[in-house]
Amino acid sequence: MKILVVNCGSSSIKYQLFDMTDESVLAKGLVERIGIEGSVLTHQPAGKPKAVINADIKNHSIGIKLVLEALTDANHGVIGSMKEIAAVGHRVVHAGEKFADSVLITPEVMKALDECIEMAPLHNPPNILGIEACAELIPGVPQTGVFDTAFHQTMPKHAFLYGLPYEAYEKYGLRRYGFHGTSHKYVSQRAAELMDEQLTNLRIITCHLGNGASIAAVKFGKSVDTSMGFTPLEGLVMGTRCGEIDPAIIPYLMKKEGMTPDQIDSYLNKKSGVLGVSGVSSDFRDIEEAAVAGNDRAQLALEMFAYKVRKYIGSYAAAMGGADAIVFTAGLGENSASMRDKICNGLEFLGTRIDPVKNNVRGKAQEISVDGAKVKIFIIPTNEELVIARDTKTICAGLV
Ligand code: AMP
Repeated sequence: MKILVVNCGSSSIKYQLFDMTDESVLAKGLVERIGIEGSVLTHQPAGKPKAVINADIKNHSIGIKLVLEALTDANHGVIGSMKEIAAVGHRVVHAGEKFADSVLITPEVMKALDECIEMAPLHNPPNILGIEACAELIPGVPQTGVFDTAFHQTMPKHAFLYGLPYEAYEKYGLRRYGFHGTSHKYVSQRAAELMDEQLTNLRIITCHLGNGASIAAVKFGKSVDTSMGFTPLEGLVMGTRCGEIDPAIIPYLMKKEGMTPDQIDSYLNKKSGVLGVSGVSSDFRDIEEAAVAGNDRAQLALEMFAYKVRKYIGSYAAAMGGADAIVFTAGLGENSASMRDKICNGLEFLGTRIDPVKNNVRGKAQEISVDGAKVKIFIIPTNEELVIARDTKTICAGLV
C-alpha cells in the first residue's frame, strides 16, 4: 500500500510517498514559493539524484499536480502511475474540539474544517486547498486528515480552560487546544519503546523545540497539558513568537503605538521571540554563533529560552505527580547539545542529569542522561509524516 503524505503551508507543500509494506520512503520533496516569483519543486526520489523543477506555481492545485507528475516521471519518478497511490494523508493544523483522532475526509469533515478557519486563519486554508486539489487530481482516492490538535483533546477541563468568563468558552470556543500533537504522540511512543516499558505506565515530558516550540505532559499515554493554547502563539518564547506574556501588554501597546489588531498580531507572531530579544535572527544557529562571538542580547535570548523550557518541565512534573522521562525533539531539540545542556542544568532536583558525552550527538534517537538517572532524558527525532502515513493506513485499510 503506497500512501502520499501532504503538508500544505501558506506558500509551500511538503510531501513524502511511503511504501507501507515496510514503511520506507520512496520519495519526498518540497514545493516552495507558491504564488510568489521563483517558485520551485525540489523532488528527492530514494536512491536517485534530486530533481529541481522551476515552474510558475500559481496555487496549491498546480503544486500538487507537479508533485504527482514528479512521482510518476519517467526519469525521477518512483511509481508507474498515479493509480498506485492508495490513499493520501494530510496534516491539518486545527480541528478545534471536533476531532480527537485522525479521520477519513468526507463532505461533513470539510465543513467542520471550514468552521475552524477562524481559529487558524493562516494554517487551515492551505490544508483545505491541498485536500481539494488531491480530490480534483486523483478523484476517488481516499484522503484523511491528521490533526495537530487531536492528541491534546484528552486534556482535562481544568487544564484547557482559561480564567475568562465561562461564556467565552461556550460562545467562541476560547480554550487551550495545543499543537504539534502528532509529534508529541510519536516521540512519547518512541520513548516508551526505548525504555522497554508500556506507555500507559509512564509520565513523559515531550519538548518539541523548533522554530515553533511546545511542551506536553503525556501521562500514561495521554496529553494532560501542553504549552501552546488557543493558537500556536502561547507558551515558550519561540523563533519569532512571544509566547506567554501579560495580556494587559496588548491593549497597552496598541494604545501607545497606535497599532491595529492585525499589526499587534504580526508584532507578537513575527517580530518577537528570540528574534525580537536578540535582534540577531530567529534561527537558533545564528543566535548561538552570535552569543559565542560575545553578543550579549543573543546570549540573553538563549538564557530566556532555556529558562522557560526548564520552568515548563518543572511545572509538568508537578502536574503529573512526577516524571519518568524528558524527550527533546525538532530542529533545536534534536541538534543543539548546548541548548539541551542549558535546559537540563538545574533539573537535578527531579533526579536527573545530562551526560555530556552522550549528549554530544545530533539527530539520533538515544538516551542522554547519566547511567541510573531516575528520570531518563532522550533525544528522539520526530517523524510526523510517518504517524500520518500510519493513521491513513489504518483508516483506509478497509477501503482500498
Ligand atoms: P524546525 O522548526 O523543527 O525545523 O526547527 C528549526 C529550528 O531548529 C531553527 O531555529 C534552527 O536554528 C534550529 N536548528 C536546526 N539545527 C540546529 C543546530 N545544529 N544547532 C542549533 N539549532 C539548530
